[in-house]
Amino acid sequence: MKVAPILLVALVFVLLEVPVAEAGCGKTKRQVNFLRKQLKKCNQKIAALMKQVRRPRGSCINPKTKKVVNNGAIVGRGKSTSEGCEVTQCRNKRFVKTFLCSPPPQKHWSYSGATGPANWKNMKGYSQCGYHRQSPVDLTGAVTTSIPTITFTGYDQTPSHVGIMNNGHSAGLFFNLNNAPEMTGGDLPGTYIFHHIHFHWGSNSSQGSEHTVDGTSYPMEMHAVHYNKKYGDIGKAVASGNGDGLAVLGFLFDISSNDNTAFDAVIDGLSHIHATGDIHNLASVFSVDSLFSDDTSKFFRYNGSLTTPACNQVVVWTVVKAMVGISEAQLAAFRELEDGHHHHIVDNFRPVQPLFGRTIQCN
Ligand SMILES: [Zn+2]
Repeated sequence: MKVAPILLVALVFVLLEVPVAEAGCGKTKRQVNFLRKQLKKCNQKIAALMKQVRRPRGSCINPKTKKVVNNGAIVGRGKSTSEGCEVTQCRNKRFVKTFLCSPPPQKHWSYSGATGPANWKNMKGYSQCGYHRQSPVDLTGAVTTSIPTITFTGYDQTPSHVGIMNNGHSAGLFFNLNNAPEMTGGDLPGTYIFHHIHFHWGSNSSQGSEHTVDGTSYPMEMHAVHYNKKYGDIGKAVASGNGDGLAVLGFLFDISSNDNTAFDAVIDGLSHIHATGDIHNLASVFSVDSLFSDDTSKFFRYNGSLTTPACNQVVVWTVVKAMVGISEAQLAAFRELEDGHHHHIVDNFRPVQPLFGRTIQCN
């Protein structure tokens, strides 16, 4: 396995906001070298596993059963990156490659100070952050239209594994599924393939969401990132520069007095990924849609961008109106994560951006 393609893939994700995308790269040289070594070890291990069994191209091998599994099975049991590459799976291989940081080609971005959101547009490679179709926005003055409901296919599958990762900017969830979930309809300009989920949250519960509704912030926002099937993969979809490249499904959270048990495994997983670069396989699995709000039929729709550099204007946004509940104790677990400078990851949201004449629709 060559290092160059790996870094290339990682680079693609630096352009994205993915848990991977949010693979912000404020890493020291030592950390970068460590991650490179981890990647190399992982790739060697994967290569060795792949050799053990004849397999169709693009498939994976379960090391225990030695069975070939299409579309990615875990190859090894996951702990954390610091414990070696046991975490890697076929699909995970992509996720490890893409979530981990490659050395940043540009200056590192952050959520505060000189490298914070107000200055992203002035940083090398991030000029799009100053363009006029940016996200997030305040969802207000929406035009009510008859957008039909979105059809979700495959979101109720039980994955073989769910991985969680801290990329220094967010926590990302990756699902190991036989068939990639797809969303269609809902006036989306294509068929969109589910890629991963990540979160944005506040230092306290008066803030944290990226989108606001009539000026009100919420304590957390979850993004289910999808790419347009016609581009083949998420990197190409972003690189297309076209407004139909990605579709992100956003969910806003409000505080519930009781824990939202649908998030129990996620919350437990967070305790295993405190450090940037940590990966963990969750102790129990759940379907993608178990994290969604009960009602996804009503939503806001507008055209925008990634909310992290390079702020590519390639996103069809759908922000679901029905909130997801989360308890203060559960939110506290997100606030325990640490970035590459060992600071707690909090307030990892971009402030709302001007609409510049865009229309927000709702149904
Ligand atoms: Zn996001």
